[in-house]
Amino acid sequence: GLGIAISAIGCMSIIALILTLSQHHTLELPLNTQYGMVFDAGSSHTALFIYKWPGNKENNTAIVSQALLCDVEGGGISSYKQNPLAAGQSLRKCLDVAKATIPAKQHGTSPVYLGATAGMRLLKLQDQAASDQILEEVRKAIQAYPFNFQGARILSGKEEGAYGWITINYLMETLIKHSFEGRWVLPKDSRVIGSMDLGGASTQISFTPSGPIRDPGTAEILQLYGKKYDLYSHSYLCYGKDQALKIAQAYLVQAGRPGTINHPCYHLGYNQTLTMGDLYNSPCVNKPTGFDPSTNLTFVGTGEPNQCSNLMLNIINVSTCSLSPDCGFNGVYQPPVNGIFFAFSAYFYTFDFLGLAPQAPLPKVTLSIESFCNKTWKTLLTEYPKTPEKYLREYCASAQYIMNVLLQGYKFNQSWDKIFFQKQVADTDIGWTLGYMLNLTNLIPSESPITVTGLQRGQWV
Ligand code: AMP
Repeated sequence: GLGIAISAIGCMSIIALILTLSQHHTLELPLNTQYGMVFDAGSSHTALFIYKWPGNKENNTAIVSQALLCDVEGGGISSYKQNPLAAGQSLRKCLDVAKATIPAKQHGTSPVYLGATAGMRLLKLQDQAASDQILEEVRKAIQAYPFNFQGARILSGKEEGAYGWITINYLMETLIKHSFEGRWVLPKDSRVIGSMDLGGASTQISFTPSGPIRDPGTAEILQLYGKKYDLYSHSYLCYGKDQALKIAQAYLVQAGRPGTINHPCYHLGYNQTLTMGDLYNSPCVNKPTGFDPSTNLTFVGTGEPNQCSNLMLNIINVSTCSLSPDCGFNGVYQPPVNGIFFAFSAYFYTFDFLGLAPQAPLPKVTLSIESFCNKTWKTLLTEYPKTPEKYLREYCASAQYIMNVLLQGYKFNQSWDKIFFQKQVADTDIGWTLGYMLNLTNLIPSESPITVTGLQRGQWV
């Protein structure tokens, strides 16, 4: 009797086990990981982002995350104007990494995109032929790999800003939320997050204003998951960190005499010598007539935080704009900032280095920057032996520049505590690349998932 009972229980548990297994089977069968790649060809360097997401999801609402980031060695692709072939070759190591990361049978179905930003926008202004050649060489280099190549192009600044905004709001689930029960719901609190990106050659700000966008040239209308967003998005060409610091140097040369020039943003004891050719190699700076490119200029650090801040205020030029009082800086229209913002790339690097990320009260920020700028170069070298000098020498200038852009330019005076200096969300880097891929790969439906899945409206909140 007992034996039969035990075997009956055993039988039932086997049946239960089979049922569980088959349930798991049907649940896991569609989760065939898919991959997509985007090269971020920035002004100072190129990076390859590899994204992954569970495949075969019915309604394209799967969560995409970062599988791998590969930094390309050497400078940005715009630095290869003398040797465009090498721009293409520079991408090979990361393409090999992608080949090793993505299972071979999926290579052909994995899309790869290359987007170039302000470094290439500037090169195109200076020398369109060189810019075309570089894009052609990077195309050839990527096409030599087995992936599904989807094109290499220069993004407009407005697009770059809008894609960064999509990335943040996608990762923060402010557009659509993955509910506890595993369904997708439109979030009740639909307050979206603004985006601020400080690159090497341009800087972007994108957010949904509370009022109308008065300059249609700065408006980007997005339709995501069935909801319409009126986005203000502007990119300031030449106001990325590296170009802005160049403009500041050129400004000092004009104010003083060539030869030796005092620099209030450089630390006491730090001197930098460069040629006029190096300083004036960019369309962002005004060239004096008939200068000799081989003439040396030496910037001598004086470590004067207040003068440094005044210098930065001068170069961002906040006098006025045509739609006053709604002004950003340098004559650009900007509606009043609205909601919370994530500030990434060089905003994050600078504030993180100074111990001010993700947030610090404004008085503390001001004091920290001032005391950092007051340190001598000798002190800095002993305090930060591991920080590369090319970054260490510029944190004071970058911080002063950032403060002027945020407070005098964008006018965050009353909403300083709405800014979060942040690099990642959910282990995925914040930047334009994810938003770009989501859009071009149709991973964000413009219609609401209610209609896409055919589920009853009652099942969605
Ligand atoms: P881009 O290459 O256009 O995205 O520019 C990124 C900017 O961030 C450039 O000005 C870089 O020099 C700067 N940058 C990158 N990494 C760091 C870092 N660890 N610390 C400070 N600045 C950085």
